[in-house]
Amino acid sequence: MRTTVGIIGAGPAGLLLARLLHNAGIESVVLESRDRAYVERRQRAGILEQGTVEVLRAAGAERMDREGLRHDGIELRFDRRRHRVDFPALTGGKSVMVYAQTEVCKDLIALQLKEGGPLLFEAEALAVEGAETDHPRVRFRHKGVEDVLECDYVVGCDGFWGVARAAVPAGRSSTFERTYPFGWLGILADVPPSHDELVYARHDRGFALLSMRSPSVSRLYLQVPADTDADGWSDEEIWTELERRFETDDDWTLRRGPITQKSVTPMRSYVHEPMRHGRLFLAGDAAHIVPPTGAKGLNLAVGDVVTFVRALTHRRETGSAELLDAYSATCLRRVWQAERFSYDMTTLLHRAPDATPFEDRLQLARLERIASSRAAETDLAEAYTGFPIG
Ligand SMILES: Cc1cc2nc3c(=O)[nH]c(=O)nc-3n(C[C@H](O)[C@H](O)[C@H](O)COP(=O)(O)OP(=O)(O)OC[C@H]3O[C@@H](n4cnc5c(N)ncnc54)[C@H](O)[C@@H]3O)c2cc1C
Repeated sequence: MRTTVGIIGAGPAGLLLARLLHNAGIESVVLESRDRAYVERRQRAGILEQGTVEVLRAAGAERMDREGLRHDGIELRFDRRRHRVDFPALTGGKSVMVYAQTEVCKDLIALQLKEGGPLLFEAEALAVEGAETDHPRVRFRHKGVEDVLECDYVVGCDGFWGVARAAVPAGRSSTFERTYPFGWLGILADVPPSHDELVYARHDRGFALLSMRSPSVSRLYLQVPADTDADGWSDEEIWTELERRFETDDDWTLRRGPITQKSVTPMRSYVHEPMRHGRLFLAGDAAHIVPPTGAKGLNLAVGDVVTFVRALTHRRETGSAELLDAYSATCLRRVWQAERFSYDMTTLLHRAPDATPFEDRLQLARLERIASSRAAETDLAEAYTGFPIG
């Protein structure tokens, strides 16, 4: 097999990349190790920055505008009090959209299968070879048979556990990492959300987040110790703990409903530099991970692939490799802003197992500052609604 851009992975990064390349008239082949049903069911992100919404809209993801929920703010909850951060008022009109990653993937898969290049499910990339030559190759196994995909460029969109990153020699790369001593126990529940915007709660018992997937499905999270087994929590224990952490001095109540899914997500920050080696480019979780507190992972993946397509188009139109050469540095500037913001949100709202009373007071003072200073609140609103791409 031969193509212009070989894409490893059909998560949001790989699928959007294939779509943007198709719209730019550039051939690609996508290799995805899992089957279609698995990719379409994998519960993950749900918050799209304004820039992500615009990219997906231009790419042809029409259902998002019909079914996504525009959100103009979030609520911070601490000390039994509530503070709303009003995004449009603080950012000159920006907002975010609640539209699940599962739906983004379904829309992009449907578009790709209808009018894009080949998208092979159950095609596991085994290795990227010849990244330093003009003709890199991906060795892969499709339904039990080994094959080779010859490319002009390879983009590793294969997530944190993929193989693409391994093709960058250790001596040519640096990694920056932080693992947090807690995770998120996340549930999906068949019950309308108890609030019309996301609620981020800081509590002495730990962090909690109220989110949603649709007007009838709630998504809720509890901070738990890193090694927690989701099945160790009964539904009753989860609802009781959520009620405690969201408690307020007014008459707000949490609606309960049947829990349809439970899982624990580890919290990690990770950056691999550079994001390019020869003709191999890394995009999305293959190159960087953020803890989900800032809702940045999927949005970063979108920024990376937009940057790559701009650079490749520039190369084809002008013959200049300037933007391809700048790919890693361009992406990393945005990545590190997202790493900083995700770290700030995580340390602002979670209670570390060894937190001292001094640190507890500092957290409350930081929250108080956001609630009382327009400058501090604007900083949060700007970061949450998204940093510019490129
Ligand atoms: C529980 C949870 C909640 C999250 N919440 C948010 C949120 O609210 N907001 C946000 O922005 N982000 C969030 N994220 C992060 C977000 O989901 C990821 O950043 C996003 O999925 C990254 O997309 P990606 O395409 O880079 O990687 P992935 O989605 O991981 O996709 C990689 C793909 O590559 C495939 N693959 C792997 N290895 C191979 C191989 N060898 N050969 C072929 N294919 C391979 C995988 O099967 C997968 O389909 C969350 C993540 C989790 C886990």
